[in-house]
Amino acid sequence: MTQQELFGTTLEEMQQALLPLGFKKFRAEQIFRWLYEKAASSFAEMTNLSKEQRTQLENNFTILPGQLKVVREQRSTDGLTTKVLLGFPDGNCVETVLMQHDYGYSVCVSSQVGCNMNCSFCASGLQGMVRNLTCGEILAQIYYFQHSLAEQGARVSRVVVMGSGEPMLNLEAVLQALQLLHADHGLGISYRNMTISTCGIIPGIATLIERGTKINLAISLHAPNDELRTELMPINKKYNYADVVEMAERYAQTSGRQVMYEYILIDKLNDSEEMARQLVTLLRRKLAVVNLIPANPVPEKGYRRPRPEAVNNFFQVLKKANINVTVRREMGKDIDAACGQLRAKSLQEK
Ligand code: SAH
Repeated sequence: MTQQELFGTTLEEMQQALLPLGFKKFRAEQIFRWLYEKAASSFAEMTNLSKEQRTQLENNFTILPGQLKVVREQRSTDGLTTKVLLGFPDGNCVETVLMQHDYGYSVCVSSQVGCNMNCSFCASGLQGMVRNLTCGEILAQIYYFQHSLAEQGARVSRVVVMGSGEPMLNLEAVLQALQLLHADHGLGISYRNMTISTCGIIPGIATLIERGTKINLAISLHAPNDELRTELMPINKKYNYADVVEMAERYAQTSGRQVMYEYILIDKLNDSEEMARQLVTLLRRKLAVVNLIPANPVPEKGYRRPRPEAVNNFFQVLKKANINVTVRREMGKDIDAACGQLRAKSLQEK
């Protein structure tokens, strides 16, 4: 008998799926709360259901968080960052990161197995894209950590879709996962504590505008002109950076949420003051904040970390021009926490 995956379904979908078993609607609501509020990973934990009902459920359904395999786990030396490589029942695996900040716990999730975008500095795309993740697989990455945090009376309070994959190319699954995280009887995470990061898929941004979402948008910009951006990010040929910024600014205006522009600083490639001035011209008077990220080195490409003076000079040019700017506090660089590095290493070793 094939079992159906229950994790990742909405309340309505759950009610539909349970109907053939003769479960009343309020039972679906109870199960919904067990899965999304209490982070249960088995039917056995659902103590307000009868033994018979639990057996019936076990025979017909699976719960993904109970089936995840931890293929690898790495913890940073300061103990604040944990990165796991989570294996799904079909054998594919993705990276998920838990970060402990002073304001709470945030989880960075992957949206695809691998990636097709081929950004030159990124390890996620080294083996191409294998497949999209389902809503349940995106959500299960958060609940993997939530399960143990709950035992300590803590909870995940922020989610960033900034792991491997391009979320805008799997947008329905991503949005359903975020909606379930926001739901009453879920974790109740506010949309302003969720961020989707994109390499600049314009139709995806347009969809967010149409739906009127309040989720934070991050744009991986990394270069302030066509020539360099196309070299770093081939997607720039299809969706030009200037058009991306225009659409992102429209999202900022309609959502009232400042857009974050991520800019990896790579030694002698995009870290000059001239580049900083071009970035100022691009973002002047936009509802924007620039997040500078000293690159994690990619030895295969000859990309090195920027010199600290270069980071500082770049920062000052933006600051003096009144552009909001921060330098990313790097967490977990001792544990291959940049996109795709852990999975790439694990695949290499196979
Ligand atoms: N596809 C989405 C989300 C995944 S990438 C996007 O492009 O935004 C998440 C972030 O990690 C991006 O800003 C990406 O550029 C960054 N990143 C990838 N490789 C990196 C590296 N070697 N060093 C630092 N940041 C990196």
